[in-house]
Amino acid sequence: MDSPTFDIETFEVQKQALRDALSSLRPDQRRINFLQQGVDRLQAQADAIQATRPPGCWCLGAGGRGMRYLGESLGFREYCACEAGAAAKLAHEREATAAAARKVETNLIESGIPFRALQYEIGTSPADAKAREAASKWCRGAIDSQAMLLTGDTGRGKTGLAVGMLHHCIRAGSRGLFVNVPDQLARMRDVAGGQRDEALATLRKRIATDPLVVFDDIGVGRWSEWVEETVYSWVNARYEDPDLASVFTTNCSVAELGEHIGARSTWRIVEMCGPQGIVKLGGRNLRMTAAAKVVSA
Ligand SMILES: [Zn+2]
Repeated sequence: MDSPTFDIETFEVQKQALRDALSSLRPDQRRINFLQQGVDRLQAQADAIQATRPPGCWCLGAGGRGMRYLGESLGFREYCACEAGAAAKLAHEREATAAAARKVETNLIESGIPFRALQYEIGTSPADAKAREAASKWCRGAIDSQAMLLTGDTGRGKTGLAVGMLHHCIRAGSRGLFVNVPDQLARMRDVAGGQRDEALATLRKRIATDPLVVFDDIGVGRWSEWVEETVYSWVNARYEDPDLASVFTTNCSVAELGEHIGARSTWRIVEMCGPQGIVKLGGRNLRMTAAAKVVSA
């Protein structure tokens, strides 16, 4: 009769191997049980809350699911149709509006617009009507040029109009920078070597990235090699990225501008502006008019 052969030694080895496998499994099983208890506990809590929620609510009172950033504040990807959902949506919208307003304020403070000019707007600018209209159109994208050059004699309201344009864009949520070119150059000249490089690099970084930069009073002051190189590095940074918009104001004609800041910068400015982007401000000399009022009062 056939009986199964039995090798006791092999049996012992196999039994030990199984014991080892079991002992290595047992802690896992405990962990699985522990985790399962946690899951069950959470589900029981969720069920208890769900029992108190109105029909159709899936948010357990949170208002929605899928947290996401809305600009600088948080919101849900999906809102529940229940009251908690409506409340969360309203709160998130209010927070987003407040965050946008805070961002505009920060951008205004960091824009470098002189304090006395912080209230300037295109609409209330004393510049002539034709220039105001061109400025307004350009800000709305109705004039297709990368830059705008506001020329005209002293006191025609060029700076005020340029600040108004910057204001308009910052209020619309953009970042922007005001640079009074002669002041900035003088300030840079006055600081010592290492600090000057650092200050120039910081300014250069903003000039290379801010969506709108106003270069006020460009072409004032004497030409020097350093002035030409510095101004060129700024103008060229704008020129190289067609998405960066610029406004230049100057008392000079295009020919005179070349004598003050060099031909390379001048031609880049002219090319960025195109024929539509060069606006000559006429009208009365506003400073003289104001002075006359003071004298005759
Ligand atoms: Zn709900």
